[in-house]
Amino acid sequence: MGRLIDQYIRSAAERERAEMVEALASRFAERAALHDRDGSFPHENFADLHKSGYLKLTVPRIFGGGEATLYELVSLQERLAYGDGSTALAVGWHLGQVLHFRTTRKLPDKLFEELCRAIVDDGAMINTFASESASGSPSRGGKPETTAIRTEGGWLITGRKTFSTLSPILDRFVVSAYIPEEDGTADFLIYKNGQVSIIETWDTIGMRGTGSHDVVLDSVFTPGDCRLPGLGIDDGGGWLLHIPACYMGIALAARDFAVSFAQTYRPNHLQGPIAELPLVQQSIGQMETELRTARCLLYAAADRWDRETESRPLLKPELGLAKYTATNNAIKAVDIAMRIVGGASLSKKLPLERYYRDVRAGLHNPPMDNTVLHTLAADALNEMR
Ligand SMILES: Cc1cc2nc3c(=O)[nH]c(=O)nc-3n(C[C@H](O)[C@H](O)[C@H](O)COP(=O)(O)OP(=O)(O)OC[C@H]3O[C@@H](n4cnc5c(N)ncnc54)[C@H](O)[C@@H]3O)c2cc1C
Repeated sequence: MGRLIDQYIRSAAERERAEMVEALASRFAERAALHDRDGSFPHENFADLHKSGYLKLTVPRIFGGGEATLYELVSLQERLAYGDGSTALAVGWHLGQVLHFRTTRKLPDKLFEELCRAIVDDGAMINTFASESASGSPSRGGKPETTAIRTEGGWLITGRKTFSTLSPILDRFVVSAYIPEEDGTADFLIYKNGQVSIIETWDTIGMRGTGSHDVVLDSVFTPGDCRLPGLGIDDGGGWLLHIPACYMGIALAARDFAVSFAQTYRPNHLQGPIAELPLVQQSIGQMETELRTARCLLYAAADRWDRETESRPLLKPELGLAKYTATNNAIKAVDIAMRIVGGASLSKKLPLERYYRDVRAGLHNPPMDNTVLHTLAADALNEMR
């Protein structure tokens, strides 16, 4: 019988990519506890990702990339997170944003081509730093306190961004900034220079290896053409499915650990392993409902987004529902896995307690639960108007 994680592989080509990522995930799993303990950034994982070609997964073929679909991105990110959630989430922002730029053309063509070539040739990466302590999550519409002031030939950007995943490794990133002279907000591509500093603030309960520190910009110059045009094609935010994929991968790892524990652990008062107990089987069944339901929604949403290119903005409720269900069900599944394993699940020697802490972060990645519920409610109310 095939493994649960393989259930959504559709072709030989997808299997081949999955096997490549599986090898990376196994290697990263061996390093995960150390980076989790130290809160250090796994530079060696990113060197491996570069060497394997994974960093160019979503780059268009014309620039030498893999031009992966959203479905493939979800599948591979899930598998990578099975080995190490932090690395998967961090690289997911990069891969997702390249896909987003590919479909929305929000990055002007010249900058996009330059980015793609840097990814393919040098293993460059990208992310957007939009969160700030005063404005909170950008997905809620807060105004950035980071400012962009016009200067000769470009802009001077000043401010402080929080939750800046991948900050230890990026040589370029996008920031959102407020433009006082226009009383508006725009995104700017920044190439790291001496005016950019990283303050190592990231010391959290979970996702400790994502390097999501604060980034301070002190009058950083960026040329005029590095201001991104506000309007692009609305892609419904499908690329954000890299987030639920990550948390599903972590939960699948917890599930496999618990099931294999149940099959091998036999306390000396029992005739067989605890997997034979109806109570434990019930728990395994519950874990399966959480995972299988969430994955059904996740892969269906990704597949629809790939195929229904004209109606992507209309898929927002489906995409949000997939994220909401996956992140919440991942938390439930890891909790059940730990109950199956019992007190040993608390041990730092086992990966379960790390999974438990890592999945928690999914609640605070966009779209947040209340935003999803609001979107679904608005959809229902509009329908009946
Ligand atoms: C592991 C990880 C990696 C991340 N990486 C990045 C990254 O690379 N780039 C980036 O820009 N961001 C990143 N983020 C940040 C993320 O997108 C959020 O900005 C951040 O988690 C703060 O979100 P929040 O909902 O707690 O913030 P806030 O918006 O400050 O909300 C705090 C609380 O206030 C309440 N609240 C605030 N506003 C509203 C409202 N309008 N309606 C209802 N309730 C409200 C809610 O109870 C909410 O929980 C990352 C986060 C995590 C956890």
